[in-house]
Amino acid sequence: MKIERIEAFPVSIPLNHTYKDANRIETHSRDVVVKISASGGAVGWGAGSPRTFPTGETQASAIKVLEEILLPLLGGKDPFELEAIHREMGAAIPFHFAPKSAIDCALYDLQGRVLDQPVYNLLGGKIRDEMPSFDILPLETPEITAEIASAARAEGTMAFKIKMNRDLKTSVARVRAVREAVGGEAMLVVDANTTWTSKLAISACSMIEEYDITMVEQPVSGHDIDGMEFITRNTRVRICADESMRPDYMAELMRRRAADVVNIKVNREGGLLPCKKAAAMAEMHGIEGLCGSVIQGVLIDAAAAHLFASTPGIIYNESGKAPAWHDLDIATGLRVENGMVKVPEGPGLGVEIDEKVLRKFLSAD
Ligand SMILES: [Mg+2]
Repeated sequence: MKIERIEAFPVSIPLNHTYKDANRIETHSRDVVVKISASGGAVGWGAGSPRTFPTGETQASAIKVLEEILLPLLGGKDPFELEAIHREMGAAIPFHFAPKSAIDCALYDLQGRVLDQPVYNLLGGKIRDEMPSFDILPLETPEITAEIASAARAEGTMAFKIKMNRDLKTSVARVRAVREAVGGEAMLVVDANTTWTSKLAISACSMIEEYDITMVEQPVSGHDIDGMEFITRNTRVRICADESMRPDYMAELMRRRAADVVNIKVNREGGLLPCKKAAAMAEMHGIEGLCGSVIQGVLIDAAAAHLFASTPGIIYNESGKAPAWHDLDIATGLRVENGMVKVPEGPGLGVEIDEKVLRKFLSAD
């Protein structure tokens, strides 16, 4: 079997509410979508979400890298030779993980459809059918944040991620308000999105510890592995690496056990195959995994669901929000019920693309 045709599309899917954290405001999921057609008629779809922060990618840069560098490598290749394709992509250009992820996911989707198997069976087989997802609460006043959390809790959501910034007083008030609104049983995760210093993080952790926080995510800059190690060693709250969990930092991060949890994101690690390797590395270092997501469409959430379905070291999940965050998406078929993300059961990634909707949402930065 040979890859015959590869197409790339920049797609902006409108969010049904504006997203806000310490670093940005978003109105759309801005993904790049790759369609790979092979001899015999098999087709696979995959997507990646380029992020200006923290990896310096945009839709326009991702499309340029795909069209000029990555897609020309694929013509005539066997779509099952994923390791060889990853090696060649890495040799052609470092970084640019979102476009590489779109190719990786499209190849897995294609392989699954050829074999009539869900992708989780290509990743080691399924160990769970569903997983709860964190509801990500926007960086709003404590009162508004608590109202949003309370409404989601009433609909069954049991896990919440609270965004924080340098305004510690308001940030701590936000945590207190959410804990009071959702009750003692719900899981609370806090995300500082790199806005603290090491000492500020130690203070913040001691101030929020009483609200039973499951973890504090990325208190300091992604490159500050010293800071992550210092904080991890000097607070009782679990520390999660997100912006530090990049392919170029992760070996040192894990070797130094500079986090208790790592946020593994399909688009940032460069696809499902690199995610499985990252998860194995974390497991060997006694570090828990979180199946992460960014503001992204159903096609990427579906890939994330196959990752958490097949990876025992992933203990937490925040993917699976796309169906709730978009009234209309280019892909359908991912089910989320009562806060639980259901692993798709069809062949490939188990979701279907509506090319009419894809064309409607075509865009660039
Ligand atoms: Mg984060």
